[in-house]
Amino acid sequence: MYAIVDVETTGLGGDLNRITEIAIAIHDGKQLIDEFHSLVNPGIPISPYVTGLTGIDDTMVMNAPSFADLADTVEQYTKNKIFVAHNVGFDYHIIRKEFERAGMEFKRKKLCTVKLSRQIFPGLRSYSLGKLCSYLGITINDRHRAKGDTDATVVLFEKLLQHDHQSIIEKQLHPHSGESALPSLLPKEVFDRLPETPGIYYFIDQRDRIIYVGKAINIKKRVLGHFYDKKAKEIAMSSETSNIHFEETGSELLALIREATEIKKNYPKYNTAQKRSPKAFGIVHYTDRAGIVHLGYSLLKQVKQPLKVFYSVTACIAFLEDLCEKFDLCPKFTQLQSGVERCSHYKLKNCRGICEGNESVESYNERVLLAIESIQLSGKNLIIVEKGRTEDEKALIEIQNDNYFGYGFISVEHSLKRYEELQDFITPQQHYPDIQQIVDSYLERKTRGQDYLEYKHLKIHAHFRLITSCFTI
Ligand SMILES: [Zn+2]
Repeated sequence: MYAIVDVETTGLGGDLNRITEIAIAIHDGKQLIDEFHSLVNPGIPISPYVTGLTGIDDTMVMNAPSFADLADTVEQYTKNKIFVAHNVGFDYHIIRKEFERAGMEFKRKKLCTVKLSRQIFPGLRSYSLGKLCSYLGITINDRHRAKGDTDATVVLFEKLLQHDHQSIIEKQLHPHSGESALPSLLPKEVFDRLPETPGIYYFIDQRDRIIYVGKAINIKKRVLGHFYDKKAKEIAMSSETSNIHFEETGSELLALIREATEIKKNYPKYNTAQKRSPKAFGIVHYTDRAGIVHLGYSLLKQVKQPLKVFYSVTACIAFLEDLCEKFDLCPKFTQLQSGVERCSHYKLKNCRGICEGNESVESYNERVLLAIESIQLSGKNLIIVEKGRTEDEKALIEIQNDNYFGYGFISVEHSLKRYEELQDFITPQQHYPDIQQIVDSYLERKTRGQDYLEYKHLKIHAHFRLITSCFTI
């Protein structure tokens, strides 16, 4: 928990400087959870220069509480929290002095957003709050007022948390705990072997069970982050970890996909949040003993490569009904009227009689295949090209008909022109709805500089496909 603080002062130098306004924002590392703000009567005049800067003058603070009046409140708000401020030395020192005058002791762990910004957003000309905010696109309302500056520091701090890929915040809070942070069951060699590259990692317990799967841009740093984390769940998880396996992916997108897949597959006990996934259904086709090609739907987890994914049975049925009408299919063979001798023609009247033996299997199947082809043509077919595990490699992630199909790696020198050749490098994978969401949001986000290949299925039964375009969006 963090207490993000800003104070305004009377402006006199040194220990005579007194607080005229204080704002505190309580943040749990994910979001703002509480706020406190008050003007403070400093008991001495405010320097005209500071009044010019902040707009706070003597009359404004005349009826405000003194710091001594607020000390208990400030104590409660900041207790057991990490004290965060922009140039923390200044605010922390002044608050500590005010507590001293009120006869109280004040001691907190500190984080400085100037110091963190220098490391997490290196190379900027100025790290003043105003300059940083304009660089990061943060709007400050009421600059040089405690509330306005605190609100801006909260947004800045959230950006620091988001971009802290090297656990810089952890390191500042626990500067000397590097090695002692390793769990007692985990051999040091196992930790030392971890690469500092993107990928996924598995925490494994003494009975060889996978208890956690995570993804990271830097596997080693991220793993260390777990060991530094003092949340009860993290402590329990670390204490059970006796081995760590990893898989490098190069691509960050692939790390996300691999993580989701492995969580769904292994159901690790500490991946509580990501285990739940929306119930999804896949449209499938199969051939019965008479040679008739059926269409139907099934729970997605029972389907390896669905033709299309829906999130309700109703949507599957509506889709199949639509196909029946368009391609004159029989409801009996499209899972719309199961367990009947022949279809009733009641709702869908287009059946040409396959169920009554009035149409040949070949002629019926021809239309089913056209229907399947129409499904496959309706979706997006992509091969996303991402960074590989080494400089000489690219990662390929295939989306077939809107669904995740599989992934693989290929030499940078390999031509990306022919789909058939690329297919040899791609290992088909189980499709999960979570992966759909990862890929969708990736494609939405990646608007520039992303290579992908788009291709069209021409004749699905001949397994002949053509890449129609290869371009950069
Ligand atoms: Zn029929």
